[in-house]
Amino acid sequence: EPDDTPAVGTPDAEFENSLRPRRLSEVVGQRKVVERLSITLDAARRRGEPLGHLLLDGPPGLGKTTLATVVPRELATDGGDGEIQYTSGPALRAPHDLVAYLTCASRGSVLFIDEIHRLPPAVEEYLYSAMEDFRVDIVMGEGTGARTVSLNIEPFTVIGATTRSGMLTAPLRDRFVNHERVEYYEVDDLAEIVRRNAVKLGLTTEGDAAQQLARRSRGTPRKANNLLRWCRDFAQVHSETGELTPTLAARALEMREVDALGLEDQDRRYLRTIIEAFVGGPVGLTTLSHALSVPTDTLEDEVEPYLLRCGLMQRTSRGRVVTPKAWDHLGLDRTTDDSS
Ligand code: ATP
Repeated sequence: EPDDTPAVGTPDAEFENSLRPRRLSEVVGQRKVVERLSITLDAARRRGEPLGHLLLDGPPGLGKTTLATVVPRELATDGGDGEIQYTSGPALRAPHDLVAYLTCASRGSVLFIDEIHRLPPAVEEYLYSAMEDFRVDIVMGEGTGARTVSLNIEPFTVIGATTRSGMLTAPLRDRFVNHERVEYYEVDDLAEIVRRNAVKLGLTTEGDAAQQLARRSRGTPRKANNLLRWCRDFAQVHSETGELTPTLAARALEMREVDALGLEDQDRRYLRTIIEAFVGGPVGLTTLSHALSVPTDTLEDEVEPYLLRCGLMQRTSRGRVVTPKAWDHLGLDRTTDDSS
């Protein structure tokens, strides 16, 4: 699976929920996305209309679900949480799986569809008319007696999340009036998230401990949260006061085997394989996927975007190649000549 989203109802999901910002003003970083969203939300509120359908695009763990949960709360006029229903592309196998969500949607509520690029085509088509005209066709009865009834539904908002908007069909993409791309976070923003979440977890951080975690979080809040959780356990066991000092953070991070760039085992294995088995590349994605026993989806959605951002590899028309920086980062000797 190209995603490490914890399953709903698990302790991991509860942990993540407890740390989620509740209002747009609590969302750290993603400044431009937040600014645009706040204007669209304000306009919708003033007109008393639902927010236009919103597509959120970007690598896993960067806050797409967080942004989606904030929207109904921002629109609620009674100061409550607003209404939101959650589902995902793979969970909606046939149009009738979608019907219950659509008919349950109240005016101005949000239907969050994770991994929307994985909707089966029949469901996707069914969704179009719901999104456009707020109507659904329902088949009543069976066999020759069956007839189709067209039903009005309340105006609502679809928020679709995807790691690859390129895989969406044009008609589906066109139904989204708002399209935002979330990017990897700067270290300072991640450090701020770590500090805030440490407070929520009742953990005191000292000096540059939060900054250290932020530097090793691969630009990803979810990774930062996971490191924070590990450091909290580490401090519980190794510190008398339970405080997370810079020294303690360094020791805890050392044990997790995330390196100075935040790369994890899978990232290093990716680079090392291209270097050692394919002399630095170019190598095709499928070949690489076989060599690593990692699905192509995971490589494209999760591993490569961050390595690209770090300037450790490139996607070329002939395949994947590592850059000299990758050799240096892994401490490997570049004995082969790449001047060709
Ligand atoms: P996926 O795409 O895999 O569903 P996601 O991008 O939806 O992941 P979230 O689940 O929204 O990621 O975020 C994970 C956690 O990161 C949240 O619980 C929250 O604590 C933290 N987080 C994410 N974005 C922000 C942010 N902008 N400000 C503060 N905390 C954030």
